[in-house]
Amino acid sequence: MKTDVQVVVVGGGIVGAATLYWLAKLGWTNTLLLERRNLTSGSTWHAAGNTTYFGPYAQMTRLFAGSIRTYLQAEKDSGQSIGFHQTGSLRVATTQREREQFHSFEAGYQALDIAYQVVDNDVINELHPCIRTDGLFGAAHTPTDGHVDPSSTTQAMAKAARGLGAAIELQCPVQQLTRENNSWLLQTQSGSVRAQHVVMSASFWTRELLEPLGLNVPLYATEHHELITDAVPEISALNYEVPAYRDSYVSCSMRQEQQGFLLGIYESEPVFWSLDGIPANFKEELLAPNTDRLEPHLEKLMKRVPAFADAGIKTINNGPMCWTPDGLPMLGPIAKKYPGLWLASGFNVGIGTGGGSAEFLAHWMVYGKPLFDLPIVHASRFGNEVTKAQAVDSIKACYRQGYRLPDSI
Ligand SMILES: Cc1cc2nc3c(=O)[nH]c(=O)nc-3n(C[C@H](O)[C@H](O)[C@H](O)COP(=O)(O)OP(=O)(O)OC[C@H]3O[C@@H](n4cnc5c(N)ncnc54)[C@H](O)[C@@H]3O)c2cc1C
Repeated sequence: MKTDVQVVVVGGGIVGAATLYWLAKLGWTNTLLLERRNLTSGSTWHAAGNTTYFGPYAQMTRLFAGSIRTYLQAEKDSGQSIGFHQTGSLRVATTQREREQFHSFEAGYQALDIAYQVVDNDVINELHPCIRTDGLFGAAHTPTDGHVDPSSTTQAMAKAARGLGAAIELQCPVQQLTRENNSWLLQTQSGSVRAQHVVMSASFWTRELLEPLGLNVPLYATEHHELITDAVPEISALNYEVPAYRDSYVSCSMRQEQQGFLLGIYESEPVFWSLDGIPANFKEELLAPNTDRLEPHLEKLMKRVPAFADAGIKTINNGPMCWTPDGLPMLGPIAKKYPGLWLASGFNVGIGTGGGSAEFLAHWMVYGKPLFDLPIVHASRFGNEVTKAQAVDSIKACYRQGYRLPDSI
């Protein structure tokens, strides 16, 4: 194992792998990623892999767009497929107000050169015949996004980074982090590593790892369900893959998975996981599913997508999902008193935004300023005083918001 490096990246989920890859692409290759277990062991392995261009904050679109670009580039650099399905997405407008909000994004997408259109119900019917459009006000259509295989994508970036000279050490949890003689010292069971910079991409574990430094990082995990159905005859009858569909009224996203549906639900009463400490022996595990909580959403979905009502449920996954109090990731330096300590944590849509966020952060580290101006994601924005109760309240509100756009838009 390397023992003296320019950068240690802590955590080998999609965000850590992307950060290592971007640093290497920008010329920083004296780097080491330390992963507690295996790449993707945290939330990444069980994610649905949706990579939409459409986020609740128009400014975030650059992180989404940078992600698909990063993953496709890593596929080329590594020769490892990322399993990208360019199905496009439909975000349905459930009110006239929502349609107006969608229209307000048109200029922004045009400026970024991303295909985006507000379409009428007849276009929804054509693109996704399973959606009942009565009562809808059209949809926002982003035809060039879709979904990736999160594990293959992480592996592709890790392989490409290694190819450029970066190193990765698996089964190597970081036990302690201390500041010594103007550098960082990381203790692991395989010995210690000195680094000029440390990037914390350990998701909800970041909070516990930084606590001994007196840092209070408001990262907590909620449970999050995804359901996969058996084959659906209406889908099997089509000779193309339907676009992903998102619906603020149902509070659900749904995409095609093989010949069935895969859906993710933002519940109205989110449930937190391991608020008092992440179990030390937590592995690649799923949590016990709770279908009662999903029921009200599924009932609405059956009305909107009658084909779903007839489909058998094949799999229900419930996994931990990392949140910050405002639902946005934490990127950049965390506190002036700790130079060289960077965060890339707090991702609840880390497949969608991980690649672009890594590019944003790597530019900041290598060139001294982020790739573009986006203070809403700066890691230092919460200060050090957010209590657990405050964080939980704010995260609940974010989670419940689901696919509803903020009123201020
Ligand atoms: C059911 C479900 C479906 C989802 N679907 C989507 C989706 O479709 N699209 C989307 O964008 N997002 C989705 N997400 C969210 C997505 O999974 C996460 O945002 C993303 O995986 C976070 O990546 P990460 O790299 O930040 O964290 P993680 O993947 O959790 O990686 C953190 C890593 O840090 C490691 N680590 C922890 N402590 C240490 C230590 N002490 N030393 C070394 N390493 C350490 C862990 O082992 C882990 O591998 C979904 C989440 C769930 C639960």
